[in-house]
Amino acid sequence: MNDFVTNDGFEICISCDKPTKVKRDAPVKSRKYYIEGAGQMCKSCYDAIIEKLKIMHQNLNNEEI
Ligand SMILES: [Zn+2]
Repeated sequence: MNDFVTNDGFEICISCDKPTKVKRDAPVKSRKYYIEGAGQMCKSCYDAIIEKLKIMHQNLNNEEI
């Protein structure tokens, strides 16, 4: 198992390896920037991914038309 946690108990972003502000023992449902099946991300990586997904989605829709 990967251990994406800092020494002081904070989750580490799965994308950029920087520590996040989310405690390891925080419930998943209360977390921000958490992607199920992937893991915890920091705000900037999460925003970047969401933006990419939006663009992909738009492109798909455009191709269908
Ligand atoms: Zn990150």
